Amino acid sequence: MTPTDRPGTTSPGTDLRVLAPGDPGWNEARATFNLLDDQRPDLVALPENRDDVAAAIALARRAGLRVAAQGTGHGASARGPLDGTMLLNTSRMTEVAIDAERRRVRVGAAAKWEHVAPRLSELGLAGLHGSSLDVGLAGYSMGGGIGWLTRKHGLQTNAVRAIELVTAAGEHLRVDADHHADLFWALRGGGGNFGVVTAIEFDVVPVPELTSGSYFFPVERAREVLHTWTALLPTLPEELTTWVTVLHFPPADEVPAEVRAQSFVILMAAHLGPEREARRLLKPLEELGPIMDTLGAQSPIALGTLAMDPEDPLPYRSTTALVDELPGDAIDAIAPLTAPGSPLVLIQFRHTGAGFSRRPDGAGARATLPGEILVFGLAVPDGPDADVTGPLGALDAVLAPLKVGEYPNFVERPVDAGRFFDDATWARLRAIKDAYDPGDLIRGNHHVPAGGTSLAA
Ligand SMILES: Cc1cc2nc3c(=O)[nH]c(=O)nc-3n(C[C@H](O)[C@H](O)[C@H](O)COP(=O)(O)OP(=O)(O)OC[C@H]3O[C@@H](n4cnc5c(N)ncnc54)[C@H](O)[C@@H]3O)c2cc1C
Repeated sequence: MTPTDRPGTTSPGTDLRVLAPGDPGWNEARATFNLLDDQRPDLVALPENRDDVAAAIALARRAGLRVAAQGTGHGASARGPLDGTMLLNTSRMTEVAIDAERRRVRVGAAAKWEHVAPRLSELGLAGLHGSSLDVGLAGYSMGGGIGWLTRKHGLQTNAVRAIELVTAAGEHLRVDADHHADLFWALRGGGGNFGVVTAIEFDVVPVPELTSGSYFFPVERAREVLHTWTALLPTLPEELTTWVTVLHFPPADEVPAEVRAQSFVILMAAHLGPEREARRLLKPLEELGPIMDTLGAQSPIALGTLAMDPEDPLPYRSTTALVDELPGDAIDAIAPLTAPGSPLVLIQFRHTGAGFSRRPDGAGARATLPGEILVFGLAVPDGPDADVTGPLGALDAVLAPLKVGEYPNFVERPVDAGRFFDDATWARLRAIKDAYDPGDLIRGNHHVPAGGTSLAA
């Protein structure tokens, strides 16, 4: 590096802030949502606009570093160690513009759903967000993006209409169906492997009527609730999305007193229709006699908190599978894993299918997901040395023979990303990586490596 590139100062010609280990703000700038990820990049750049992003990429090149972009740090666990890498922390780039008439939203690289969803809700609109509004649009949208409205409206990545990015060569591009269509295809499913995204435009949907809420049961009834729920699934329309979550609430002050330190099996529901219809569809579950029932008419913003996801960073490991069905013997094998005191503080079963499997015209690299149920297990170690591989492995062992795929954004550890795609899609992703980033400068999570095939291959 030249003296003017010195970290902890600004980069020449721009106001780009760059931090080195030990600089004030270093730990905050390299932090992630999972407290078990202790990522240690060589430098952290804090761009505020696309010129800063280009300057950061140029600085990384001069310093012989690779570049890893991060908006919120929710998806960092999949990326692995950051040796020899500049972390490009875009968290200042959170601008939002909403065109209500066109139902089109444009956001900056690090906008979170919480910057968008409340404003949309006031307009009777909703984005295709997931369980937590704390998640960022960038990683969520480029990895797929699944939530309460996916059965009806499809994956968020299919709602993306344009992406702006700075390439590894430092060029600012706006890509859409008509401009750099190959890159637009790759970014929608291939993730942040092809450049540093500066803005995303996407469509949102009208929500004229919504019923949502939960039936809470004592955790001891997990087996019974899961049997009833799985039997009901084939009868449910795509306007209704239900999840069953076994949840051990922590004894933390921020958890509402009525559930704090208690364990439940919770049927969560979002219905694009009236309450009486939702209750009719859910009758067999209602007849089980929930001890708490919060189902009722809501505005779209209620979907942002329905799942009661943690809002603050925590230490955890997770596992996941997409399955076509959850047979009775699998439920019977999973139920004992949900007992209070287990490090498996959450096991979630999401009804998928319908819009998850519809491929729209002009879709990208990840347009659909297989299966009818997504299972996600989350374990929190109760100390720095505690090992949670046992309980997660026990859940994996039940799911392994049933597994028909994985949702990449829920695979929170470094793996060979080729396993998420069929051979032709993977070959095309690698060819596009070679075309736009032949030196493999950009490190997305679930990495698509350069040096694969040629575009002609
Ligand atoms: C509490 C919680 C709840 C979740 N719920 C859901 C859910 O309901 N549905 C769902 O689909 N997913 C969900 N997820 C998973 C989530 O979609 C992924 O973690 C996703 O990667 C988060 O994106 P991010 O931008 O917030 O995270 P980040 O960690 O900031 O980014 C993740 C990855 O995206 C890429 N990226 C980010 N910004 C850029 C950029 N500017 N340029 C290029 N690449 C970039 C990088 O590869 C980066 O490693 C959840 C995650 C958590 C922690």
